[in-house]
Amino acid sequence: MIQVQNITKSFGKLQVLKGIDLHIPQGKLYSIVGPSGAGKTTLLQIMGTLSNPDSGHVEIRGEKLSKLGEKKLAAFRNREIGFVFQFHYLLPEFTALENVCIPAFIAKRSKKDAEEKAKDLLNFLGLKDRMTHKPAELSGGERQRVAVARALVNDPAVIFADEPSGNLDTKNREDLHDLFFKLRDEFNQTLVIVTHDENFARQSDKIVAMRDGWIEE
Ligand code: ATP
Repeated sequence: MIQVQNITKSFGKLQVLKGIDLHIPQGKLYSIVGPSGAGKTTLLQIMGTLSNPDSGHVEIRGEKLSKLGEKKLAAFRNREIGFVFQFHYLLPEFTALENVCIPAFIAKRSKKDAEEKAKDLLNFLGLKDRMTHKPAELSGGERQRVAVARALVNDPAVIFADEPSGNLDTKNREDLHDLFFKLRDEFNQTLVIVTHDENFARQSDKIVAMRDGWIEE
């Protein structure tokens, strides 16, 4: 499903990834843990096509990312990859529903099709009564669930999340974690999540522990 082969990456003289190999099967939830500066975000961004490795390859759903030109890569990213970040990055002037629809519009889906899918997702995520609210009118947990719905709208191959619950209180954090497991169990969704939450990591299918640009276990 996701195949990472011998990825290296340096910023100036600092080698942040020193030869990463990783295989993530469909329908699994993998967590990436490790101390600050270990290279977790850098690896996630390379797997998510937001950054290029210096060497090595990433393959998602049989597609070798380095073989895609810039245009095809952007389309692939929008269709096959959903991102959830610590800060939700919703557009403040749009409603929850409109925010969720945006990646579907970029993928040139019709308004009707996009809205149907977005409404289904917002319903599923318990946000039925919040669809016409703008981000400022939502709680932190609700905003993060809207961000998850937006990440899912194009039925992506994989969700990459970078400390998605880092900014939430305990209750909202647990709800978000439950949601990730539900996506795996009910939709066979593949998820790769950078986290500092050991409890959550322990419940995932595999813990990828990073240190100094290597995978430890
Ligand atoms: P944290 O848990 O603190 O988020 P991390 O494991 O996600 O850390 P990365 O964000 O991948 O770590 O960063 C790894 C190293 O690479 C750090 O030393 C960081 O300062 C450096 N780094 C990351 N991005 C860049 C960049 N664009 N330019 C220069 N250095 C960078």
